[in-house]
Amino acid sequence: MLGNSVRLFTVRGIEVGVHYSWLIIFGLFTWILATSAFPEVLGRHAEVESWVLAAITVVLMFVSVLIHELAHSFVALARGLKANSITLFAFGGVSSLSGDAKEASTEFLVAIVGPLTSFALAGIAYGVASIVNETRIDLVFSYLAYINFALGVFNLVPGYPLDGGRVLRSILWGITNNVRKATEWAGNVGKVVAWGMFAFGLFQIFNGQYVNGIWLAAIAWFLHNAASNSVQQIVLETRLRRVRARDVVTRDEVTVAPGTSVAELIDHFMLPSNRGSIAVTDNGRLVGIVSIRDILKVPPAERSQVMVAQVMSGQEGLLTIAADARVQDAVELLAEHDLEQLPVMDGLHYVGMLTRADVMRQLQLREALDV
Ligand SMILES: [Zn+2]
Repeated sequence: MLGNSVRLFTVRGIEVGVHYSWLIIFGLFTWILATSAFPEVLGRHAEVESWVLAAITVVLMFVSVLIHELAHSFVALARGLKANSITLFAFGGVSSLSGDAKEASTEFLVAIVGPLTSFALAGIAYGVASIVNETRIDLVFSYLAYINFALGVFNLVPGYPLDGGRVLRSILWGITNNVRKATEWAGNVGKVVAWGMFAFGLFQIFNGQYVNGIWLAAIAWFLHNAASNSVQQIVLETRLRRVRARDVVTRDEVTVAPGTSVAELIDHFMLPSNRGSIAVTDNGRLVGIVSIRDILKVPPAERSQVMVAQVMSGQEGLLTIAADARVQDAVELLAEHDLEQLPVMDGLHYVGMLTRADVMRQLQLREALDV
């Protein structure tokens, strides 16, 4: 689930949660419906009724978005992918699926079912509104029909990572047989769509339609970010798919023994090797890392009496990665724990430090050489 979310319940192993931003939208939409749209139909005196009906409508909107996301997740499960969670937030919902779609057809089905579900919900709501002859039910369900129809249409916009963009990507993937190219194209279309929406939002702001304009610009900004992040991620994944930690890491020739004094560490290891942090090994076995931050804990006058073992970090156990592990896993670990470097281990033997810079250099190299 996204950060800053509250978990609501779990369906078939899928955690469903709400992001705080959704509460703002809940308040805003309820307020808009209750103060302008609904009183026009129900009359100015039906104030309480308007508020209650507006809140019910917005809750049903939320249920509609949830059903849309569940449709994605259920199809993903049926096609052998994993569905982890669904988070509802200001701009709709996000399903977190894992396991790569192996075939373009899986991607296509998982994506297309969302908008189709929204259209089906719009149809049902429209049916209820036309069959039931009651002003209030008619009002609520007409809105729901409209909202679900709009949701379906919006999601069909062919900008990755919207559903329409995923459909486009799966089609391009099917034709070219190249996931990376397909994602880049679909992502670029996503960016163009985002810029178009942003321009239209600005146009609306200049024409005095502030709320609509700001809303559209915000969605455009969100879409643009999502499109570029998805492309970056897929480039990283495909370029580095077969790369292992051992291929990227620089073998570390300089390590220090735990019994070395801090003064010696500085004069004989750190300054000559021009490095701010050094691995501490005991017969090839990694026991810690010592960096400038650790050294600064010792007053300069005491540096010759204090041993590296006394100041090094990682004595409680270091986070490491196996030399055979995929670089992608290393990148995920670095990001997850907000680390600058990760010791690479070959069994019990220390190989070297893997840094983000190592990974980026490898990525740039592979981009440049097109491998
Ligand atoms: Zn969707």
